[in-house]
Amino acid sequence: MQGLKAILLICDGMGDRPVPELGARTPLEAANNINMNTLALQGECGIMDPIAPGIRPGSDTSHLSILGYDPYKAYTGRGPFEAAGIGMDVRKGDIALRCNFSTVDESMVIVDRRAGRIEKGTDQLAALVNGMQIEDVTAFFKESVAHRGALVLRGPGLGAAVTDADPHEVGAKVHESKPIDPNDQASAKTARIVNEFVRRSYQLLKDHPVNKQREAEGKALANIILPRGAGVAPHVESFEEKYHLKGAAVVETGLIGGIAVYLGMDIVEASGATGGLDSDLMSMGRSVLKALENHSFVLCNLKGPDVAGHDGQAKAKVEVIERIDAVVGMLMQEVDPLTYIVLTADHSTPISVMDHSGDPVPIAIWGPDVRVDSIQAYDERSVIGGGLVRIKGTDVMPTLTNLLGTQEKFGA
Ligand code: ZN
Ligand code: ZN
Repeated sequence: MQGLKAILLICDGMGDRPVPELGARTPLEAANNINMNTLALQGECGIMDPIAPGIRPGSDTSHLSILGYDPYKAYTGRGPFEAAGIGMDVRKGDIALRCNFSTVDESMVIVDRRAGRIEKGTDQLAALVNGMQIEDVTAFFKESVAHRGALVLRGPGLGAAVTDADPHEVGAKVHESKPIDPNDQASAKTARIVNEFVRRSYQLLKDHPVNKQREAEGKALANIILPRGAGVAPHVESFEEKYHLKGAAVVETGLIGGIAVYLGMDIVEASGATGGLDSDLMSMGRSVLKALENHSFVLCNLKGPDVAGHDGQAKAKVEVIERIDAVVGMLMQEVDPLTYIVLTADHSTPISVMDHSGDPVPIAIWGPDVRVDSIQAYDERSVIGGGLVRIKGTDVMPTLTNLLGTQEKFGA
């Protein structure tokens, strides 16, 4: 059928375990989520292991998996996705590292790992170090929010198996980055470049007017840049090449945005999307509709349930699920009848764990021509026994492209 489109709605960390405070129900079971239930009733349901049964996913590895990329191949650490997410050009084979602006004293001992959570002037500081040439390697640096930034090293013969220059604690001396295997020449080269970058960053930053001003105001100086978490930029097929679908993403965190950008998806902004419990979810829903006007696939990540889960706040999790439910209702009302909605989560963030767990999550597919099953409610236990039975994250895109009719036949 022509004109079929899909929305992949990933409610971050929405899965949970029975919560005593909620009468041994999960937040999804306790929530008044009538629209999600209608979607389940009219759709095909099941449970999903985002990566594999029992595996505790990060949001990044889980999103890769659900988008059909084997996270054990495509995921080389957060660095490359983080750099892409802040708009840096990251190419296959580049080494990308996450960085902090930090404060050190004259003997290179950490005074503040986050440079007083500096808010302003990091763009000026970044400009001093960006484009630096070290041996035959170019070091690209860009500031992100607050004290954060990313470093991309481009040049021949670089490896990513290096230790962090960031000692991760106050009172410790800045570390020399070293190759994890002393015989690994490529990583030894990267370590050398990283150490030189750190040394030069201190020389360039320490007397900059931004820091003079901070000194006068009694604030911690941003006088060094400390890289960590080196990863080699993986080669991944773009989303469009892989699925013949033009993809967009409506997200509220840089982490997921970085993955979307890395896969070549367009980012569609939503005003009032904060990544916190105060986020304007309906605004994100409207951005999904807008993105559908010129894209055939829209990924939307709603962060709230994960935030409430990490905080161990059962009532807050129920409330944010109910606000997501309103968005689901709006989307079911407003979308073109040729549109699929996949409603799922990237992992569970149980109230009792306050972190991600390896418990599976509910999934429902709603739209034309689906094999409607007998499931009548959308929550972790009600969906069991649905037509999708128990699938893995990497099964989602084949299931969807089968419905969309964009998948090539395997065999004759
Ligand atoms: Zn997540
Ligand atoms: Zn989380």
